[in-house]
Amino acid sequence: MSQLSPLSLAQLENSGEFIERHVGPGANERQQMLETLGVQSLEQLIDETVPKSIRLQQPLAMGGPRTEAETLSYLKQVASKNQVKRSLIGLGYHETIVPTVILRNVMENPGWYTAYTPYQPEVAQGRLEALITFQQMTMDLTGMDLASASLLDEATAAAEAMALAKRVSKNKKSNLFFVDEQCFPQTIDVVKTRAEAFGFDVLVGTAEQALENDLFGILLQYPCRDGSLRDERELIAKLHERKSIVCVATDILALVVLTSPGELGADVVLGSSQRFGVPMGFGGPHAAFFGTRDQYKRSMPGRIIGVSVDSRGNSALRMAMQTREQHIRREKANSNICTAQVLLANMAAFYAVYHGPEGLKRIANRVHRLTDILARGLKKTGLPILNESYFDTLSIDLGARQAEIVSAAEKAGYNLFAGVDGVVSISLNECCSRNDVENLWAVLIGPDHGLTIDGLDGVSSAIPASLQREGSILTHEVFNRYHSETEMLRYLKRLENKDLSLTHSMIALGSCTMKLNATSEMIPVTWTEFGNIHPFAPAAQTGGYRQMITELETMLREITGFDAVCMQPNSGAQGEYAGLLAIRKYHESRGEGHRNVCLIPSSAHGTNPASAMMTSMRVVVVECDSKGNVDVDDLRAKAQDLSDSLSCLMITYPSTHGVYEEEIIEICNIIHQHGGQVYMDGANLNAQVGLSKPGVIGADVSHMNLHKTFAIPHGGGGPGMGPIGIKAHLAPFVSNHSVVKLDGPNADSGAVSAAPWGSASILPISWAYIRMLGEQGLRASTETAILNANYMAKRLGEHFPVLYSGRNGRVAHECIIDLRPLKAASGISEEDVAKRLIDFGFHAPTMSFPVAGTLMIEPTESESKAELDRFIGAMIAIRGEIAQVEAGTLDAENNMLKNAPHTLADITSESWDRPYSKQQAAYPLSWVAEGKFWPSVNRIDNVYGDRNLHCSCPTTDSYR
Ligand SMILES: *Cc1c(COP(=O)(O)O)cnc(C)c1O
Repeated sequence: MSQLSPLSLAQLENSGEFIERHVGPGANERQQMLETLGVQSLEQLIDETVPKSIRLQQPLAMGGPRTEAETLSYLKQVASKNQVKRSLIGLGYHETIVPTVILRNVMENPGWYTAYTPYQPEVAQGRLEALITFQQMTMDLTGMDLASASLLDEATAAAEAMALAKRVSKNKKSNLFFVDEQCFPQTIDVVKTRAEAFGFDVLVGTAEQALENDLFGILLQYPCRDGSLRDERELIAKLHERKSIVCVATDILALVVLTSPGELGADVVLGSSQRFGVPMGFGGPHAAFFGTRDQYKRSMPGRIIGVSVDSRGNSALRMAMQTREQHIRREKANSNICTAQVLLANMAAFYAVYHGPEGLKRIANRVHRLTDILARGLKKTGLPILNESYFDTLSIDLGARQAEIVSAAEKAGYNLFAGVDGVVSISLNECCSRNDVENLWAVLIGPDHGLTIDGLDGVSSAIPASLQREGSILTHEVFNRYHSETEMLRYLKRLENKDLSLTHSMIALGSCTMKLNATSEMIPVTWTEFGNIHPFAPAAQTGGYRQMITELETMLREITGFDAVCMQPNSGAQGEYAGLLAIRKYHESRGEGHRNVCLIPSSAHGTNPASAMMTSMRVVVVECDSKGNVDVDDLRAKAQDLSDSLSCLMITYPSTHGVYEEEIIEICNIIHQHGGQVYMDGANLNAQVGLSKPGVIGADVSHMNLHKTFAIPHGGGGPGMGPIGIKAHLAPFVSNHSVVKLDGPNADSGAVSAAPWGSASILPISWAYIRMLGEQGLRASTETAILNANYMAKRLGEHFPVLYSGRNGRVAHECIIDLRPLKAASGISEEDVAKRLIDFGFHAPTMSFPVAGTLMIEPTESESKAELDRFIGAMIAIRGEIAQVEAGTLDAENNMLKNAPHTLADITSESWDRPYSKQQAAYPLSWVAEGKFWPSVNRIDNVYGDRNLHCSCPTTDSYR
């Protein structure tokens, strides 16, 4: 196969200018880097680096490259095949108005969407503040003691609630989780899938039936699916007597006016924050909220933001109890949430900040009043409304007229939900007006209905007195200060300015692939044709989405060598779970359901064992050799030993150690010989695209982190997408969906996400990325990623030991530098280096993964040599500082590394008693001053925050 030489890349300038925009180093820079590496050409470097045995023989069969303008204009045409109607389907998805100040300054702003998960809290105080606001909002509205900083979606949150219930319920002998039949169908679907994987029993029935059974937990929906409002205080009290944990899925807008589930007695409350100003987007992404009692805090799934203090004793925020996270707890983790929904949680919190308690009440009351007027009109004409009580949803028995009415509504521009037995349900939302109520009367009753809004207006009695919220909500000042647009704009900007994102400098996080998220890729996300589509809208209205998704699937299949793609998982970790479920079902279908051992190399990401546990597999660790490769002898012996019970191997390729293992094909063969399946963790796919294919080298299933390799931004910790590629034999066993039937998977394959295609509205990003780059661009990206990583390894290798390398001393697309010897000699730790990098304006690389005491650096193809040189310069300067500590010329404790990061307050304080200058502290290299990034707090105390867990908004006073 002909390699793409630097020259041919230059020649591409005219045909596909996007490649030159996406790939950081220009032709001259590439030439210089090749010289540093002592190779003649990029081709030679790739030959030296990537094993022959895995190389593709032919270029990928796909068109392109295409220009940005061409791509957007084509996609606009595709999008126009989506018909935007007023969707009144409800079921957890509602039309909403994104306040434009949030749309432009957050959702469409790379300062927010290109940031990473806030593992370095000193450069993430802005989104941490937004997230703790999200938690405060959740606590206020749900009535719970404690809330987390978002989960993937409502249905997943319900499954997590079940898992929590099982962990904490005192009814240890029960294995039954009860689900009220009034829950949303997709939620029931996802809960059932999870229960089956865990080996729990699930019973779906009426709330009354719950009391006839012995259960460890129950899920209720409030308001109910049919719209009715039930005061479940008594039921909950009875369930508590029986030691059952009561979980309540709820509606965030309804909670503004309803008694909180916490007050009714719930132990866990969850739901979607979508209708707080996040577009429906054909299913996502949206942030789920999750609250529980203080006593269950150690069992909470997902992340929690907490208050701690920095080294000056000032209040500062960080992710609390990180040791519960899967990368540390591995198979003992509470959940396998890795990527969450930070950007969307931020947006929902800002929606609450923007409207404040009074604004939210106005919106909720208006929605309710319109619903009430609609209902009065319908009742007047004798239409049977099934639910006496309601907030925004009416269920109407239309009998044989169901289909006719639904189609008449569609013609009039409305989507209603057609339920079972001739029932139609209608959920009103923030966007509805008097006009809509009149139009609905016309559809349901006929144009001569003779009703008038004013004639029917009156005081609603549809919310039972015992369920009307009393007392004030959202009293914290953050919800009461920023209601003019000027105030709001400045608030958003102030938070943004505290955070380091790709708009400042490279974020070289190994394994995270923080590449360019090109503007042209992002533009379509907020087009109304993509944003304003309900996930359960009729297929005829969603032609644009279906075409775009099919095209993306086709391209991903070509790139990976798989036969099919399942688009449902919302993150890589969820992809792992979906893939392992498919493997499990495949074995069962062959009468080999007893196969339950999952082999995982010791180098694996913690999410691998966490996912294996979610499918009740037994994790057996395979050792690595001294070079960081899988110990093939150990693998062979364990596969042999466990041959009868072997389910699968989970392996990352190239490895988490950043090398292309030569033995990968043999490794896959060994597993297959013993009847096992190969799950390839696709986090490192950026080192394969265009050069090799997981499906060709032996994987049966693999996830693709679209937010790593395929340019979806990380959103400050989500959204993401983790679709899985599967071989034909596994294809029947991947997720289907209970509301929207999918072609391909078996009808009885349960869902892993609430929406049929996961977070569909961000798929145009990956679609555009692939189409604009085309075959040459994709390959050029991979090759440049390898070039950049090897350049980095070579230059840094002169100052720090590079831990692992493959053939010819080359690394793949990332490299690990070992700080342990320096720590032994100087006491300076990897954390000190990470914090000192902030003084240079850089985010730290991945710390202590996959090896403790190291930094893993992944530059990606998008960074120019100039930027790599700045980062390398910073690391060399830091090495020099460490040398001074080693030599004793710098104090071992009071030095710029231990004191890092330095804030503006440090530098401007009256007293400066440090044994190094202010200049050295804040401007350690000459270029740092140009665009200096100031961290807003000093180094944050990790231990204090966990010992004194405080997860609600601090008052402004406590910041001072
Ligand atoms: C990022 C990553 C994952 C998990 O992906 P998420 O999308 O964050 O859930 C799994 N394995 C490896 C090696 C990763 O780097």
